[in-house]
Amino acid sequence: MGTQRRCLIAGNWKMHTDRQGAEALARAVAEATASLTDVDVVVIPPACFLEAAGAALAGSAVALGAQNMHPEAKGAFTGEIAGPMLASLGVRYVLCGHSERRHVFGERASFVGDKVRAAHAHGLTPVLCVGETLEDRDAGRTQSVVAEQLDAGLAGLTGSQVRDTVIAYEPVWAIGTGRTASPEQAQEVHAFIRARIRDAHGADCARALRIQYGGSVKPDNAAELLGQPDIDGALVGGASLDAASFASIAAARPA
Ligand code: PEP
Repeated sequence: MGTQRRCLIAGNWKMHTDRQGAEALARAVAEATASLTDVDVVVIPPACFLEAAGAALAGSAVALGAQNMHPEAKGAFTGEIAGPMLASLGVRYVLCGHSERRHVFGERASFVGDKVRAAHAHGLTPVLCVGETLEDRDAGRTQSVVAEQLDAGLAGLTGSQVRDTVIAYEPVWAIGTGRTASPEQAQEVHAFIRARIRDAHGADCARALRIQYGGSVKPDNAAELLGQPDIDGALVGGASLDAASFASIAAARPA
């Protein structure tokens, strides 16, 4: 874990839980992580349970995140949710360009960039998700794919907005597959991302920006991943649906 950066552990509940389950899980995460003062913890419930989960988190240090948002602040966009709506529910973080949005719903990199800019405009911290497919990796395109997603995702931001953006490197082949990138594979891409940020936005910005790893993070592999110098946290899917597993990832420390 980068020595100057606070670790950020976020749990993406995707399209899981019901209202009661979301409240119970949020409460259980708050209790299970209450003693962890050196790490930032975020839960990311389905949009319809944000309010209920937020109420269950009241008084705790666990922050609320959203899985997606539309770049426009309001308008005729049936089924979409705007940044100001999320902010009014107490949401602090928002995923932008999760691989399921890119690959299942066809979101283009420039649209993801629109969301990142809009998130900043509405006082939300965007978590820009980037990552290559297995086909990209096998064809030696990991860096070019990640660079393109990164450049489009950060386009038009000021230096301080870039610094206050969270990047989540999530190789698509490791998401929900039980197949994790090795710590060395993950570190290699994280270092590439940080170097690209440094070249475009300067060393101070690159040093401060947090880069999470995501892709089948579990209690038994978290410490080794978080021990890498450029890995500053985890974006957790499946294991975040169990409060004890999620808390044990948040508590994981390099040996
Ligand atoms: C994710 O949803 O971003 C994710 C990394 O999922 P999982 O941990 O289940 O692979």
